[in-house]
Amino acid sequence: MHAAIESADRYGAHNYHPLDVVLVRGEGAYVWDADGKRYLDCLSAYSAVNQGHCHPKIAAAMIEQCQRLTLSSRAFHNDRMGPFLHRLCEATGFEKALLMNSGAEAVETAIKAVRKWGYSKKGVPDGKAEIIWFADNFHGRTTTIVGFSTEPQYKHQFGPFGPGHVIVPYGDIEALRAAITPNTVAIVGEPIQGEAGIIQPPDGFWRAARALCDANNVLLVLDEIQTGLGRTGKLFAFEHEGIRPDAVTIGKALSGGFYPVSAFLASDAVMDVFHPGDHGSTFGGNPLACAVGLAALDVLIDEQLPQRAAELGPWFLDELRRIPSPHVREVRGKGLLIGVEIKRESGKARPFCERLKDRGVLCKETHDQVIRFAPPLIVQKADLELALEQVRAVLT
Ligand SMILES: *Cc1c(COP(=O)(O)O)cnc(C)c1O
Repeated sequence: MHAAIESADRYGAHNYHPLDVVLVRGEGAYVWDADGKRYLDCLSAYSAVNQGHCHPKIAAAMIEQCQRLTLSSRAFHNDRMGPFLHRLCEATGFEKALLMNSGAEAVETAIKAVRKWGYSKKGVPDGKAEIIWFADNFHGRTTTIVGFSTEPQYKHQFGPFGPGHVIVPYGDIEALRAAITPNTVAIVGEPIQGEAGIIQPPDGFWRAARALCDANNVLLVLDEIQTGLGRTGKLFAFEHEGIRPDAVTIGKALSGGFYPVSAFLASDAVMDVFHPGDHGSTFGGNPLACAVGLAALDVLIDEQLPQRAAELGPWFLDELRRIPSPHVREVRGKGLLIGVEIKRESGKARPFCERLKDRGVLCKETHDQVIRFAPPLIVQKADLELALEQVRAVLT
């Protein structure tokens, strides 16, 4: 066994079950292991590396900034946060942004914001705010967030959990309508469920959810941490439905994989609920994060990465669907967020991922039966053609 795996096993908590590969270098859509073997990265660190590994423009911004000022804390202003916030709001069409680090922190920020909005603006009685979530959601790993997960393993023996969370089946508009009460402050969901196995709600679901929110004075918040920033062929997945949520959470690709940077983006009316001292983070909005985030956002827009996902995604999906495999139950997805569901009688998805790894294509199963294909958005058609050859060999 590789010494690095041995040490990780011996000294690390066993909270992951990684594939048996030790990566030492990455460039663009490719990564290399310790023996110099090259792999096409079809996971992109769960879509954090949409811009490709070690993008030179983001690296240059990071190096320049880390030699000047890395952390000032929010006790003082820094010269990088304002310009980043400005660019972020301009690019996304939201009025204000609040910077955090991990995706889970952005979701926690959303929870605080919608509850405070409910009490201070909607007039919900203190302590009674309800948020509606969806079955099979994934929003992170904090104790609050796993409290409304429907995946038993994510919450087993981590309780007790707080109240105020209501769960309805994903994509079920009637269940959503029935779950709304006078104390509902927000509906929060993923436009496409990533960790659940690339699950898409029926067309028009989010438009109907938007209408329900408008009719009931409820906020619509979308978690675009995985689907956002170009992955599905638009800057945000909600654009496919022609709607605007009141707020979104983003993270992952917001830094192009260099550094944890996340944000809660909202209208003035929602963001105004925060006053000095209400919420914060030592590292949130630090100058290094802002320099990296700004460069990562520029790369995403200058290199038209959402358009690349829109062009390559449907072709790749179609090619995957054409594979005459006895093992595949369904191929689904949007843009370059694609899931290949393996039939139960063919076993789990992991052995397929292991065989793909041996053939130079890195994928990771999600929820036992689904192989997720989410290559960096800078990937070339020729790279995907090579990957398809390997996928064909493994699936047939
Ligand atoms: C990854 C993810 C998160 C959590 O992000 P972390 O940076 O791991 O905390 C939240 N929501 C969605 C939809 C995600 O895919």
